[in-house]
Amino acid sequence: MNKIGVHALTFIGDIENSSIEKCLSKVAKIGYDVMELPLLNPDALDTNFVSKAYEKFDLEPTVSLGLSYKTDIASEDKERVKAGRELLFKALDKTIDVGSTNLCGVIHSALQKNQSPKTAVGYENSLNVIRDLAEKANKNNVTLSLEVVNRYETNIMNTAQEAMDYINDIGDSNVKVHLDTYHMNIEENNYSEPIKKIGKDKLGMFHFGENHRGYLGSGHINFEETFNSLRKINYSGIITFESFSSEVVDPVLSNTLAVWRNLWSNSEDLATEALKFIRNGLQS
Ligand code: MN
Repeated sequence: MNKIGVHALTFIGDIENSSIEKCLSKVAKIGYDVMELPLLNPDALDTNFVSKAYEKFDLEPTVSLGLSYKTDIASEDKERVKAGRELLFKALDKTIDVGSTNLCGVIHSALQKNQSPKTAVGYENSLNVIRDLAEKANKNNVTLSLEVVNRYETNIMNTAQEAMDYINDIGDSNVKVHLDTYHMNIEENNYSEPIKKIGKDKLGMFHFGENHRGYLGSGHINFEETFNSLRKINYSGIITFESFSSEVVDPVLSNTLAVWRNLWSNSEDLATEALKFIRNGLQS
């Protein structure tokens, strides 16, 4: 029922054409339905080539992005908000051009450790940009899903409740929520309440990640509760496996996510086991 995806950084640390093609061929062979493409450098993405490559391997693209300090739309600095707005609209264009209907990730604020809580002005700036972005996304059949991440990666939304508050503050729109077990483990009481709170209508994307971001099932995330909760709300969207190891590095994203350790060295084995784990969990 659910399409199952894998994050490209499981295999590759850049988004050059040759890397993406190599990654797609491996991901397709393992049997995934979707490959998540992180927009590490949107300008460098050759959407013409990449959209055809996805078609060739019969895989669906999803696109993700994390804003940075210089493109922080939740900042009080007008220049940074403007730069963030421009980057997000470019990312949306790239999403449309690769033939994806999903743009997700930390697009509501900078993916960074903040030294202070969010401010009222910064929060309004974020809402305004996402509201405008959603309008264009809507017209192009793209769903925006805002990722709820832990306190070290944003001060805008760390819990499902904060995501719902944000979405209500945006008002009438198609903006959805993107949950991730790795972050829920740090910030939520459990896995069932956040999933129930967001519900089928507002849950746009779901990431499966272990507490250390290595092999699924090797850590202590309660995936049984997660599977049961997704089943209870009849979630029919995409489930994407996300994992990071010092084996595959993007110089910016890997450092931002504090990927210091080698959690695995064989991408194929990791992704094969993750797909089995998710399929088995959904069936049981
Ligand atoms: Mn994630």
